[in-house]
Amino acid sequence: MYAHLILPLALQQTYTYLLPRGLEASVKVGSRVIVQFGARRHYTGIVASLTPTAPTHDAAGRPIRYKEVEEICDAAPMVSEPQLRLWKWAAQYYMCTPGEVMKAAMPAGLKPESETLVSKGHDTTYTDADLSRRERLLVETVERYGTCRLTDVQKETGDTHLLNAARRLVERGVLTVAEKLQRTYSPRTETRVRLEEHYFDHDRLVDLLDSLKRAPAQEKLLAEYLDLAAATPALKLRNYSLLAEVSKATLCRRDSGAEAALSALRRKKVLTTYAGEVSRLASATTPDGPCLLRDLDSRQRQAIDSVREQWQTKDVCLLHGVTGSGKTEVYIHLIKEVMDRGGQVLYLLPEIALTTQITQRLGRVFGGRMGVYHSRFPDTERVEVWRKQLSDEPYGLILGVRSALFLPAPRLRLIIVDEEHEASYKQQDPAPRYHARDLAIVWAQMVGAKVLLGSATPSLETFRHAREGKYGLVSMTQRYGGASLPHIVVEDVKELRRKKRMPTPFSPRLIAEVKEALARGEQAILFQNRRGYSPVVVCRQCGWTPRCTHCDVTLTYHRQQNNLVCHYCGTTYRLPENCPACGSTALKDLGYGTEKIEAAVGEVFPGARTARMDLDTTRSRSAYDDIINNFSEGRTDLLIGTQMVTKGLDFDRVRVVGVMNADQMLNQPDFRAYERAYQMLSQVAGRAGRKGEKGLVVIQTGQPDLPVVDQVVRGDYEAMYRDQMAEREYFHYPPFYRLIAVWLRHRSSEVVDHAAQDLATLLRPRFGEGLLGPDKPAVGRVQSLFLRKLLLKVPPHEAPFALRQFLLQCSRQLTERPAYHAVSIVYDVDPL
Ligand code: ADP
Ligand code: ZN
Ligand code: ZN
Repeated sequence: MYAHLILPLALQQTYTYLLPRGLEASVKVGSRVIVQFGARRHYTGIVASLTPTAPTHDAAGRPIRYKEVEEICDAAPMVSEPQLRLWKWAAQYYMCTPGEVMKAAMPAGLKPESETLVSKGHDTTYTDADLSRRERLLVETVERYGTCRLTDVQKETGDTHLLNAARRLVERGVLTVAEKLQRTYSPRTETRVRLEEHYFDHDRLVDLLDSLKRAPAQEKLLAEYLDLAAATPALKLRNYSLLAEVSKATLCRRDSGAEAALSALRRKKVLTTYAGEVSRLASATTPDGPCLLRDLDSRQRQAIDSVREQWQTKDVCLLHGVTGSGKTEVYIHLIKEVMDRGGQVLYLLPEIALTTQITQRLGRVFGGRMGVYHSRFPDTERVEVWRKQLSDEPYGLILGVRSALFLPAPRLRLIIVDEEHEASYKQQDPAPRYHARDLAIVWAQMVGAKVLLGSATPSLETFRHAREGKYGLVSMTQRYGGASLPHIVVEDVKELRRKKRMPTPFSPRLIAEVKEALARGEQAILFQNRRGYSPVVVCRQCGWTPRCTHCDVTLTYHRQQNNLVCHYCGTTYRLPENCPACGSTALKDLGYGTEKIEAAVGEVFPGARTARMDLDTTRSRSAYDDIINNFSEGRTDLLIGTQMVTKGLDFDRVRVVGVMNADQMLNQPDFRAYERAYQMLSQVAGRAGRKGEKGLVVIQTGQPDLPVVDQVVRGDYEAMYRDQMAEREYFHYPPFYRLIAVWLRHRSSEVVDHAAQDLATLLRPRFGEGLLGPDKPAVGRVQSLFLRKLLLKVPPHEAPFALRQFLLQCSRQLTERPAYHAVSIVYDVDPL
């Protein structure tokens, strides 16, 4: 029997291996196996198909020797056949390989692979003079750290071209290479404490407690243990197994002397410790509790009825409801219905919106029947969720980010895509560059589930389908509980600056409103969609600006760390004291990031308790939760942040929202700029006054007369939709045409330029006017690679899969030319 495997690599085809005799029966389509690939590497593969025979000779007539599968990982398949169909579909549509989809779909712990390890070899007679610079670097790193992975040496030294040097050193015996299969998943254990069996006798235990009177710390600890272990009934019934398990951490948490007391009791053979396996999932979800389902009001009930009705005839329905209209509550009721009938639900949220708030809200209703799947969680937790979904007791509801789409779900009946317009549903890099909303619709169709898309500001793509009847459409136009939508005012900052009435980044109106809110004990949010202190530093004398040496961008000044950071590649630089061009010390920072707004807040609103929420302050899961909890529980008054503050958050006492600089969004050189600006501004505005009193939003812009600004003020989504659709249709943009972006990358600007021209020549006959470029993108170089971009406008009638064949053929044809071997060509289907 032969197994054709998907390996987690960018390989177009499957790879064939021989199944060891006797093991044929235990391998099925979807099973995990471990195989050797190439001379040294080991990978986990998924069985895509099985055949009794395989070709004995290759195309050139040489006999083929198949390697044997080395290990079969599980008794049952890890991936179902429908899931494999989804992988295949995604690979075809998004122009990547099933192996790349596998990589994104499965947590790392489920697909261990070997990693090259290097350590010192037997030859120690070499001298530094014998080694090239690169070889010396490698040897020094290994001497310093002992055995290490080549990938780590690369990271440590910043040198990615070490493989050849390593090979030479191995040949000379200076280094050796070890290949080790790394199993990244291992069950987590904790130390637990148990009473020794000897004392399971009532009289002995009483004697013991008596004798411990002289050692009060030990007596206290033992009493505490007996309490936690709920020992009384167990002792009474003389049933050892009734003792509750007690973790050492819990037992010793109270006072500092507990550890010592425990050691003493262990020496006296009173207590013993052992390793117990813990489920990592316990921390991620709340236990089963009472189901706290709220009653819906009449509008919500109406919405639910309409959704159900739409589902009679359509598989996808859009719930278009203004912020605070109670969409989440509607979802909860629909989820419960499906679960009560034994079905499973997938609730997708954009990365950034998956906060503790929403987790708690759903957890209160669904308790232990809900699992959370999040990229911020350790990989091991994701492995456990995957395994649980294959067990007899899977979660009925999974709340997760885009990759949750790939979890097994044998009884999936409903997928909710909340905030469906969010760009973070699209994976940018690496492949598969998929859109989770679109793939969710495909997945639902494959397994016969319904889809509910929710948003206050739907994407034009979705709204068009809803308007034209392909999707159902249900609207909620008012906020829950009679709360009113915020009042929005626009401040013309150009005019205010000209009149010198704006010495700070805040307009007079914004200052007055925030001060009043703070005085009344209410809160404010200031939205600045740029992190760091200032996006540009310039020399006043000569105009010099620090730029990244690897990318064509100016560096952002971060004051807290006092350095300059490239937001494209992450490289940090010291802030020079003098201008390197002219020596002047007059370096000036221009523009505002969140850090600088925070500093200005300190001056304009002294005494306000402020917090800043951006990528820099939320590196850890707990930091993120702390900022949100502090704000929602009123321990902070003023929240400054990037778009993170706008997503999926529900605060009660936000009176004012200030948009520091709407022009940043309005001036993006992108055909989606106005759609995005409308969405972002409406979402930010939606944080104001969600309960009780009406909130106020102040939008600061230099272009108050733009129609889209007026549309935001009036909350007129339909007007924005009409305007934008007219433009999109005229210029052949989505949703009328589909786009495929083609990115070319190379170290040499000249080579990439020629390659892009030549590719355009191959594509032009088929696309004509529908081919834009090649262009040098706004950031023309990233991480030392020069970029060129082509944009293809694909007419709606074009058959997608034939077109993709043609594109792949063109790029293959190009990279086959020796001059272009090292040019990387990436297709981004439906780019955002
Ligand atoms: P959306 O998701 O549309 O922005 P939410 O579902 O968050 O709106 O609802 C807005 C607010 O109204 C929340 O604070 C929520 O707790 C409250 N709310 C909505 N529906 C109900 C209900 N049926 N009973 C009680 N409170 C509700
Ligand atoms: Zn850079
Ligand atoms: Zn200068």
